Parts: sequence; structure tokens; C-alpha cells
Amino acid sequence: MALSFEAARTMILESVIPLPPEAVSLLDVVGMVIAEDIRAAWDMPLWNNSAMDGFAVRAEDCVAGQTLTVDGYIPAGGSASGINVKPGGAVKIMTGAPAPAGCDAIVPIEETVEKNGKLILTGQVRPGDHLRIRGEDVSKGELVIAAGTALRPAEINMLASFGYRTAPVFRRPKVAILSTGDELVEPGEDIGTGQIFNSNDYSIAAAVKQLGGEPVLLGIARDDRQSLTEKIAAGLEEDLLITTAGVSMGDHDLVCDVLEVLQVERRFWKVDIKPGRPTAFGLKNGKPVFSLPGNPVSSMITFEQFVRPALLKMMGHQRVIEPLVRAVMQETIKKKPGRVQFLRVRVAKDGQRLVASSSGDQNTGILRTLLRANGIAVLPADLEQLRSGEEVDVQLIAAVDIV
Ligand code: AMP
Ligand code: MG
Repeated sequence: MALSFEAARTMILESVIPLPPEAVSLLDVVGMVIAEDIRAAWDMPLWNNSAMDGFAVRAEDCVAGQTLTVDGYIPAGGSASGINVKPGGAVKIMTGAPAPAGCDAIVPIEETVEKNGKLILTGQVRPGDHLRIRGEDVSKGELVIAAGTALRPAEINMLASFGYRTAPVFRRPKVAILSTGDELVEPGEDIGTGQIFNSNDYSIAAAVKQLGGEPVLLGIARDDRQSLTEKIAAGLEEDLLITTAGVSMGDHDLVCDVLEVLQVERRFWKVDIKPGRPTAFGLKNGKPVFSLPGNPVSSMITFEQFVRPALLKMMGHQRVIEPLVRAVMQETIKKKPGRVQFLRVRVAKDGQRLVASSSGDQNTGILRTLLRANGIAVLPADLEQLRSGEEVDVQLIAAVDIV
């Protein structure tokens, strides 16, 4: 009995948990998920300072026609201690430098003329102008990054601003990738009759990297028990194992047998989806093991549906399934009821709405159709026909065309 698409995905997500957090250099954390709340250890900025290169003044002194006497200079990195802006006075100051006592505004250089040691103001000055006030960005103790946040450059800047060199993030999963099949040859090697290059390792490794995981390539296992057992056993040492091919009903499809011998506890084999029906999922001591079909299109689509959310959850992401978008199908699609069908489509923005059309021959052997696609339309299992002009749910896998 095959499982429904939704049940399969739920089962996977219920089986995986985030990996333990570790301290990772800020240079390597982009895209990773922080495991702890980060609170401000001090007010930011810690002292009032200038937002411009200019002069620290008392706004009340700055009436039109007034000249000020410049005494004192505070460069960036300098100190304002002992410096005081006296009535009728001004202190030259650079951006970021601490504001001296007595001042309540900064006049930018470009709004002044300096003549014979006197400062003539050309613009209006209001209290608070161009001054950054202690704590105006963040106050001490405030939550600045909540646990579960995926780190972007802005969060990384905030961490560095508070002196962090590393961040406590969920570890990157090491993902073992194993290709199986007697017909496979590594790219770059000599190829003979009936042989094809192992391309799946490369697309799966790329997909793993894109999500922030670390691919560990195990190479090719042959369609025999010994070869499969050795490689799969090695793969079970990593955080997650993905095998491709050898899970259909062919004479040499031994992957499921070998997984069983190695005591991988099977959760499902076969899902009511097209393509990708023979997909299997199991657990070895809590480690997820995915057996994806060998056909490149099927392996990539099943990766997207099943492995992607599992990996994201292991990496601590809160949102592991992207919301679907609605698009208006531009042609009629017929399908057999019973299985969810993933249709490779091209999605474009047409005014306010999204429109989708097939990106080509939907045969699973046609890789080109996936290259042309920027979306995967998800046709419900019970659907028999999607008529042109009807709406369909689409997973976006690349940017939408703007036409
Ligand atoms: P199988 O599931 O073993 O019957 O494989 C299904 C199809 O996928 C066959 O046409 C295989 O040759 C092809 N295939 C299997 N593994 C790979 C791979 N690593 N790279 C490219 N094609 C593959
Ligand atoms: Mg095979």
C-alpha cells in the first residue's frame, strides 16, 4: 500500500529533530539558524554620537546670522571627555564620534562656512539634529534576535556589533549521498556501451549545499549486496543518508533489502505521487534515510518534496515548507486520479495574477523540462482534469518571470 503525499511528508517531519547547536564563526553562519535568544548586553549606541561630519552646537545659539567660535575637535574613535560646548561655541566632530557635553545638535559641514576661525551657519538647526542618542537603536536587555531566526547579513551585523565572533547555531547536517547502479560511471571517466554518467550525485549535492547542508559523496554502489552494504553502512555514519535508484521493482533493485539487513527501520516505501512513487524513508537510530528513485527528474522532485523539509528541520528552521502560490493554468491538463502529480511549469506574473504553463514534455525521462521550469504545480490526487483558466497550487523553485 502506498502512502498519500501528505501522510508521507508528515511522517518524515515527525521523525526528524534539529541537530545540536554549536558555535560557528560569524563568517560561516549566513543562512544558519540561531539556537538561542540574543539580548542586547548594552545600549546601542552606547553613547550619544554624531551622525554627520560637522559641528556639535547648542541649537538655541544657532539663530540666523549668528557666528560661532570653534574650539575643539573630536575625531571618530576620539573621546569627548572634558570637552564642553559653551554658549556661542562649536566643536568640530566627525561621524560616529562621541558627542560632547553641552551640545544638543550637530550641524553638517555642508551647512556651514568657516571664516577666520568663526563658523557661519547657512541652514536651520533644531535640537536633536544629526545626533544619535544612546540606546535609540537597541536598549540593554532587549531581544534582538529570537531563537529560530535564520541569519541574514543584517542579523550577522547585529551580532558583530555586540562583539560576537561566533554564533550558537544548529549544526549543518552531513548528508551522505549514494548512487546505485551497474550502469553508472563517474563524469570524466571513460564510458562504454550501456553506461551513463552518474549525474544524480551532483544535483543532490548541489541541492544539499543550497540548503546549508554538507554533502558527503559516497560514490557509486553496484547492484550487489556487498557493494550496497559497504556503502550504505558508511553512509549511516553521517547525519542523514540519501540513496538514489535501485528502489523500484527491477531484478537488481536491492536497496530496500540491504537497508533492512542493516536494521534501518522502514517507515514507508511507495508514495501516491507522480513522479517518485518508489520513494522510501526509514530511520537508523533516529537518523533519516531517504531512498529516492534513480531517474534524475524523479530524484530531484522527491528531494524537493521530502528531503528538503527534513533537512531544514534538522537545521532548526521554523518554516520548512514554503507556502504554495496560486497560478492560473494556461492549458488543460489531464491526469489519472489516485496520485498527486508534480507538473513542471513556467510561472509568470501577468498583471496582478500569476499564470502557469507546462514547461515541456512531462515524461520523467525529460530532464530539459525541469531546466525550463521555475515552478512545480501540485495536482491533487483525486483530480482528473485541470482545465485551462483554472487555478492550481504551485511550488516556486526559481524566480517568477515578469512579462
Ligand atoms: P533505477 O531506479 O535503478 O531503475 O533507475 C532508474 C533510472 O535512473 C535508470 O534509467 C537509471 O539509469 C537512472 N539512474 C540511476 N542512477 C542514476 C544516477 N546516479 N545518475 C543518473 N541517472 C541515474
Ligand atoms: Mg538501477
